[in-house]
Parts: sequence; structure tokens; C-alpha cells
Amino acid sequence: MKEFFDRMHTLLGDDFGRYLDTVDKPPYHAVRVNTLKCSADKLRALCPFMGERTPFCKDGYYVTEEKLGKHPLHHAGAFYIQEPSAMSAVTVLGVKKGDRVLDLCAAPGGKSTQIAADLGSTGLLWANEVVRPRAHILLSNIERMGIANAVVSNMDPETLCTRLEGFFDKVLVDAPCSGEGMFRKDREAIEEWSVEHSLSCAVRQKAILESAKKAVRPGGVLVYSTCTFSVDENEGVVEAFLKDNPSFELVDTGESFGEATLCKARRIYPYHGGEGHFVAKFIKKDGDVAPAGVFRYEKPSRRDEFDIIAFVDELLRSNPFEHITVIDDRILELPDTELLPDMTGMNILRAGIKLGDFRRNRIEPHHNLATSLRPELFNRQLKLELSDELVNRYIRGEEISIDSWIRGYAVVSVEGIGLGLGKASDGRLKNKYPKGLRTLSWRI
Ligand code: SAM
Repeated sequence: MKEFFDRMHTLLGDDFGRYLDTVDKPPYHAVRVNTLKCSADKLRALCPFMGERTPFCKDGYYVTEEKLGKHPLHHAGAFYIQEPSAMSAVTVLGVKKGDRVLDLCAAPGGKSTQIAADLGSTGLLWANEVVRPRAHILLSNIERMGIANAVVSNMDPETLCTRLEGFFDKVLVDAPCSGEGMFRKDREAIEEWSVEHSLSCAVRQKAILESAKKAVRPGGVLVYSTCTFSVDENEGVVEAFLKDNPSFELVDTGESFGEATLCKARRIYPYHGGEGHFVAKFIKKDGDVAPAGVFRYEKPSRRDEFDIIAFVDELLRSNPFEHITVIDDRILELPDTELLPDMTGMNILRAGIKLGDFRRNRIEPHHNLATSLRPELFNRQLKLELSDELVNRYIRGEEISIDSWIRGYAVVSVEGIGLGLGKASDGRLKNKYPKGLRTLSWRI
């Protein structure tokens, strides 16, 4: 590690001592409130662990608890556990309502779910992850956070961005990196560190940016971020990209957190309140827009439509869906179809929300319904409070006793936020919480 510290000394000069002071201190812990489901005031009232707001995002808060992954409101998608400085990149991206936004290296989904919250159910989020198992984790987080206007894909950046040339208002490249900013959180990352690894990351980062640039529309924004301090992977990549791409201009991030680098980009060190991030923002001055191909919306067949309407009527008080489609046996409510490109032949894991699956002679509702619709919309709701032991029993996958008159699928909510589904009959609620999400209890 001497080599790493020597490099940090050269990089930081007089500030090296400030950095060294942080090295053996515990890392920061923070959450970002998912404003699609919950307000900061509500979360604060329910959760004593909520501390001060972070400087990196209007919805980010330091927390005094380390392990919140089993907390019922985490299960319900009220918040996302996120390293505070990692919230900076989406703040710099400056998402506006109605934007089409691509998050090219998106798993596990911290920044994608932040983009979705900023979009506030308008526009389109396209979250892509090249590593398949990670793409499924991304999808699970998109579901948990109740995001309805997203496409989740599992494609390599070059194929995706060539297909969708000039399609997006904003593109984020949160690139795989040597992770020097994660050293306090992840001691294993220290073992993997070497100058050679960092240089190979820089080569890969340049290649990803070369793909990403295609997907930005003329006048659109490209943000590049890493969680490393390496100059090769940060300023080096930005300079090489600018040299090869005169149609892109490095612009001011408009933010004052951390400190300035290359005049206009930002660097964040642990002494700025987060583990470490680099963020640079480009504008694409001109370029091509290849027609992405019009999305052709296929309505369900008359027979399927009839069954789906009956299914929705049985489950919900009213029908909020406008763009239902059926792919194989899956029933989906698509994002605004006017914002979608032709997706033929692309590796898409999800577009919109999944309502259910056709089984032999019935439709099996999908968990995604409970996470993305307001609980009040369901005909039947088991309303639980955070202090209720039943919340833990539900998350563990147990059957729950309920009023005997209720029959059929019901949503289970905690503090008014949808958690999952259950099937009621004869005074019991059969647990439909997905097996992969069931965990041991949170202490109430
Ligand atoms: N943005 C994510 C978030 O906020 O949760 C974190 C992204 S992480 C820093 C970088 C991601 O890039 C990883 O999920 C990794 O699997 C993916 N990746 C790895 N190699 C890649 C490549 N060659 N092209 C694109 N993405 C790659």
C-alpha cells in the first residue's frame, strides 16, 4: 500500500495529512429517502437513526445505524442505503421532469433509483447493467423502490448505445473503477489494488465513455463518475475523451461540494463528508440522431384483455393502467410508450411494472404490483405499523392470522407503504413475499 499512499501524497500535497487522519476512522453511513414513496419528514418521524442531511443530495441523510438492510421500511422501498458522496453524480446530472435518462453502468441501482426519484414518475429511466447477475439485483431494487417508468436492460454499452444513438437527454456513466474511495468500507478492495489494475480500469473507462457518447442527444448531458481518487481514471480519462471528441465540452457541475478539479469537475474526499467520488459533466454540442425506431405498442389479444380486466377488478378499486401488454406469459404495464424506442432484439429484463403471469387457468399477481401501486388502490389491505411484530413475521415469510371474512389477494403495507402481497382465506393470510427477499427479523 505504500505505493497508493505515495500517490495520494503527490495528489493531495498539503491536504495529505487531512486524508491520513480519516484513514482509520469508520466510514460514513447514509440513506437517500425514496421520495416516490415517502417524505423525509415521515421517515424522520418513524426512524430515530436519521441524522443530518448530506451535502451531496437534497434527499440524502447521514444515519447512526450501520445495518439497515433488514429494516421493514427498507424492504418497503422508503429509502435506499447509499454512500453519501455516491449521491453527488445524479445531483450533477440535473435530471428534469420528462427527461429520457440512461444509466449505463447501473447495478446495484443507487444512482438509477435516485434518477427515478428526480424524474418523479415522469419521463423515462433506462437502467443498464452488463453483468447479468448484477442486472437482476438492479431489477430487484427498481422493483423495491416502486419505479414504474423504467426499462432495465442487460447489454454491453457499445451495442446499446449504437442502437439508441442520440436518444437520451442525459446519460450517466458511473464507471467500474479501482475503488480507492471504498477502502474504508471494503477492506478487500485494498488487497486488489495495484497501479496496473488502476491503469486497466482507465482503458475500460475510456471505452465505455466512447460508447456512451453516442446515446446522448445533441445539446444533451453526459456525466462521468467514479469512486476512485486515481488521476489516470479521473482527469486522465476526461482529458483523453475531450481530446478525441471536440463535440463534447466539459462544463461546470454547478455544485460546490468537495473541491474543484480540472476547474470544472468535482472531487470528494473523506474530509468532505463522503468516502470519495469524482464527477465530471459534459455537454454534447452537436452530433447525430439516428432514428431509434418507433416503439410499436401491442395491446393484449381480446381474450387476454378480458381476463386481465377481470384480474385487475378483483384486485384493485380502479384500473390505473394505460399501456398493458403481454409478452409470452408475462403481463406488463409499460412506461409511457411515446417515450420508448423500438426494443426488438434487445436484452430487456423489464419494461415498466410486472402485473402478473398467466398460469394455466388463472393469473398469478406479481410482487411488483405491491411495490409500485399505492396500497389504497387495492380492494384488500393489511395495514401494519412499524412497531407491529406482524411486520417481521410477514418479512420472514410466515403465514399471518387475519379477519376471517377477507378472501383473495391483499396488499400488506407498513406505515402506508406497500410491502408485498398475501392471499387471504379462512382467517389466514398466505405469505406471497418473494422467497429471495425474506430475511431474519429487524429488532422492533
Ligand atoms: N451506478 C451503480 C450504483 O450507483 O449503484 C454502481 C455502478 S458500479 C460503480 C459499475 C458497474 O459497471 C458495475 O455494476 C459493473 O458490473 C459494471 N461494469 C463492469 N464492467 C463493465 C463494462 N465493461 N461496461 C459497462 N459496465 C461495466
